[in-house]
Amino acid sequence: MENVVLILGSNLGVRTLNLELARRFIQEHLGEITGRSSICSSSSWGFEGKEFLNQVISIRSILNAPSILKEIKDFERNSGRKERAKSYADRTIDIDILYYGDQVVEEEGLTVPHHAMQNRRFVLTPLVNLLPEYVHPILKKTSVELLELCPDKGTCEVWKDV
Ligand code: AMP
Repeated sequence: MENVVLILGSNLGVRTLNLELARRFIQEHLGEITGRSSICSSSSWGFEGKEFLNQVISIRSILNAPSILKEIKDFERNSGRKERAKSYADRTIDIDILYYGDQVVEEEGLTVPHHAMQNRRFVLTPLVNLLPEYVHPILKKTSVELLELCPDKGTCEVWKDV
């Protein structure tokens, strides 16, 4: 059993419903949800598009990291997300793995901790909200410290307390 931290994002359709459906899927297929951050809103990142809602959740899972990624990709595909290789785009639902316990996973198509999380305010803001003192296993910094050091100039605010 491992503690896993995920980030959910949506900027298409009824975004709060998309997040809720994702949480339901996660609870049923990946593991028990043990915590969730406030929902945060941020401008689209890397492209011109609608505002995103993001939420970080923690789960306890018996699945290994590649199995979690496979389940996530199947869910994203079934949720009507269109794959657009190597570009940022509008998305009904996006789920990324931030942490898999304090393990470092480096394989084809999967890097954990997420390779760019420390550079994205829309990841770190909800992460600080849920797990302020959690220490990044490679960078050896807490979520609060990562946010303080984050070079991202984009804005991200708490949108709804949950
Ligand atoms: P994105 O479109 O930003 O959700 O990127 C998804 C792609 O990133 C997937 O095809 C994964 O193979 C790859 N990927 C690499 N590391 C991770 C991770 N930690 N969590 C989710 N996807 C990842």
